[in-house]
Amino acid sequence: MYLEEDFLMLSGLQHFAFCRRQWALIHIEGQWAENFSTVDGELFHEKAHSSVNESRGDTLILRGLRIFSKELGLSGSCDVVEFIRSDDGVSLSGRDGLWLPFPVEYKRGKPKEHRADEIQLCAQAICLEEMLCCDISEGALFYGETRRRQPVQFDEELREIVASMALEMHGYAGRGYTPRVKPSKKCGNCSLKDLCLPSLQIKRSASSWLAEHMEELL
Ligand code: SF4
Repeated sequence: MYLEEDFLMLSGLQHFAFCRRQWALIHIEGQWAENFSTVDGELFHEKAHSSVNESRGDTLILRGLRIFSKELGLSGSCDVVEFIRSDDGVSLSGRDGLWLPFPVEYKRGKPKEHRADEIQLCAQAICLEEMLCCDISEGALFYGETRRRQPVQFDEELREIVASMALEMHGYAGRGYTPRVKPSKKCGNCSLKDLCLPSLQIKRSASSWLAEHMEELL
């Protein structure tokens, strides 16, 4: 169980899953660079948070709900949590009946090859389970490009990935450790590529590096 002062940002899980170094540059070293993806993504999230909470039949819709997990040592907020009337749900203050939480995370773009978005959503579900004392088996990712919801099952495999990543993040944070560059295809889409300078880490001879930079200087 982590103390509140040791909580890390839940949203950092998506950075950590994408690249450990990117997460450390942002969350340990405090560096941030905006590219089109990050700015567009923030605007998209602002839209998800902008509408007021509402009730639609047997569904209550809450936006921007603050969440935390002492077990994971993470805190953050949910874009949207739908509370659906269900016998398997939990009671809510000021409401009759029982309500089952269903987290929905908004993402710009389309479904990705990696699992970073699923990992972030599953961590949100674990927080809600801990805070509300309930079980949540499913949530959804809404992608702006496809305008569709993609269901996500919170199975044991996904939960174990979340737990081990959160543990690893706390290990890095505790040591103030930033991993070295490992250049890969994803560096091209990374908002920190100019700060991280992956090209300098690609093995090449000192003479070719010197020749290139001498040309720039002359
Ligand atoms: S440029 Fe590549 S190695 Fe550097 S932080 Fe981004 S993804 Fe990671």
